[in-house]
Amino acid sequence: MWSRVRQFGAALLDFALPPHCLACRQPLDAAAEYVCPRCWAPILKAREDRCPRCSCPGAGRGCANCAV
Ligand SMILES: [Zn+2]
Ligand SMILES: [Zn+2]
Repeated sequence: MWSRVRQFGAALLDFALPPHCLACRQPLDAAAEYVCPRCWAPILKAREDRCPRCSCPGAGRGCANCAV
């Protein structure tokens, strides 16, 4: 009985979480990825541009808030 429940749960997950990019809704190749590489690029870049300590945007490495 539990295997049937698990199968149903997996099917439900597939239905609730289709392998589509969360940002542009394009279908994804790998179901493990939530965002396609094209949408990841600006996200990763924005993360790089933020201060690693206080996360203020556009600070880069020379953050005035942290004065490191
Ligand atoms: Zn995308
Ligand atoms: Zn900072």
